[in-house]
Amino acid sequence: MKIYLNGELVDRDKAVISVFDHGLLYGDGVFEGIRSYDSLVFRLKEHIDRLYRSAEAIELKIPMTKTDMIKAVLETLKANRMKDAYIRLVVTRGTGDLGLDPRKCGVPTIFIIADKISLYPEEFYRNGLAIITARTRRNLTTALNPKIKSLNYLNNILAKIDAIKAGTEEAIMLTYNDYVTECTGDNIFVISCGKLVTPPVDVGALEGITRDVVIGLAGKMGIGFEEKMLKVEDLYAADEVFLTGTAAEIIPISMIDKRRINGGKPGEITRRFMEEFKKITKVDGVKYEM
Ligand code: PMP
Repeated sequence: MKIYLNGELVDRDKAVISVFDHGLLYGDGVFEGIRSYDSLVFRLKEHIDRLYRSAEAIELKIPMTKTDMIKAVLETLKANRMKDAYIRLVVTRGTGDLGLDPRKCGVPTIFIIADKISLYPEEFYRNGLAIITARTRRNLTTALNPKIKSLNYLNNILAKIDAIKAGTEEAIMLTYNDYVTECTGDNIFVISCGKLVTPPVDVGALEGITRDVVIGLAGKMGIGFEEKMLKVEDLYAADEVFLTGTAAEIIPISMIDKRRINGGKPGEITRRFMEEFKKITKVDGVKYEM
């Protein structure tokens, strides 16, 4: 496996970074998770734009143009001869000293891994996933805005631990005042009275790229769409619930806090979104040849 590291493609065991890297010491950095389907990188420009937005939000200047970053992603895929991949792109503040001071870090560390990912077993896509509401609340937007895809995922990991302790794979994260934000690694949608509804990202969620794709699909499918503040009770009462994310794609929810959604089965409209999503990944993307 070849890893892109600071401008070079190196073997996996040579892809090492300093223990003084602030990405490791403090989670000081940003990242993206991107997928390619049959040699088409899905929504690559959107992912790169979000990476640079996240970096700007933490005042991290990426020492590379967006065009070169896109080239680096494609080169990594080609070097690994991967047609279907999950790409992890990471930019850290770089190597500094043991203090927090970002000014003491030299050049940012940039690495790209092209690998595979399978978040949930196939049966959950067929039968639906049971999730819970996490005890852990989502970070305040005024503290660490969840719109920033930073290397600081401890808030999400604590909620993931809540899920695991409850015997489930995912958890819904609420704001301090009980509004639904998103799950630990996915955005959340409901279908209510035939309409697609999701919380606004300003409540404290990532501007998911799959979220945007699904909203776009709703328009094409003639399904109404609304961004609305939701409480967990609105989820219990919804006709259908599903999650979206690059790694998870679209996954139906069958149960929340042990309450059945749609009788405990994936809903019909969710299935249609899953089918339409699959179609779009086959035709839409940045092509690369090996
Ligand atoms: N929310 C969080 C917290 C995430 O980490 C992710 C990405 N895994 C998402 C939502 C979904 O975003 P996207 O569709 O861009 O992958």
